[in-house]
Amino acid sequence: MFKHDKALLHQVRVERPNPQYAAMLQEQLGGAQGELKAAMQYLSQSFRIKDPAIKDLFLDIAAEELSHMEMVATTINLLNGHDVDATKQQTGTIESHTLYGLGPGLTNASGQLWTAAYVNSTGDLVADLLSNVAAEQRAKVVYEYLYRQINDKGVRETIDFLLNREEAHNALFREALEKVRDTGSNRDFGTTLDAQQYFDLSSPGRYFANPNTSPERRLDGEQPRYPQDR
Ligand code: MN
Ligand code: MN
Repeated sequence: MFKHDKALLHQVRVERPNPQYAAMLQEQLGGAQGELKAAMQYLSQSFRIKDPAIKDLFLDIAAEELSHMEMVATTINLLNGHDVDATKQQTGTIESHTLYGLGPGLTNASGQLWTAAYVNSTGDLVADLLSNVAAEQRAKVVYEYLYRQINDKGVRETIDFLLNREEAHNALFREALEKVRDTGSNRDFGTTLDAQQYFDLSSPGRYFANPNTSPERRLDGEQPRYPQDR
């Protein structure tokens, strides 16, 4: 069950309208690494989770991502200002003046509609946790790019807060991954040496250690099949 709280998770403000930057910030509302994607990914993954603590973690973070989405959308709304005039806008900001009435849209920075294709859900907790750690990492990277391109103190405070929260999520997902380290797709299926081989296909020059690539160390007695085994 979800409830609506009238307050934002963290107050947002802008120093002045900036429609061009509003269009850029759309990336974190309806883009591939954005808040809506994060919320939908963790929510849809949670339905399959049996461990009550981890299920709760996924749902708590999914709910927080919706609060982030609300903060980003509110900021876009403020940045779009009050004057509907597409002729004064640069490429990329026109849509909010012609279609959304200066409101935020579920699109990325290029006006491309949000899609559920951004969401990764496998039913395997280890795979999903690894996806989520990477998703949080990518969300941080996009916020860093956005932070560097704005001087507005209000917008910077909001991005700084959101970036720090994604860092917290990243740490929590890593912690959960530790807990289920040897389960699901990470179970030991009795892998052969094939799982330990490094194919050195760029000889000469070996930059990584050489794990078990010599023919005499093959457990199955097969003849060498790869260049580095000859
Ligand atoms: Mn978020
Ligand atoms: Mn997050």
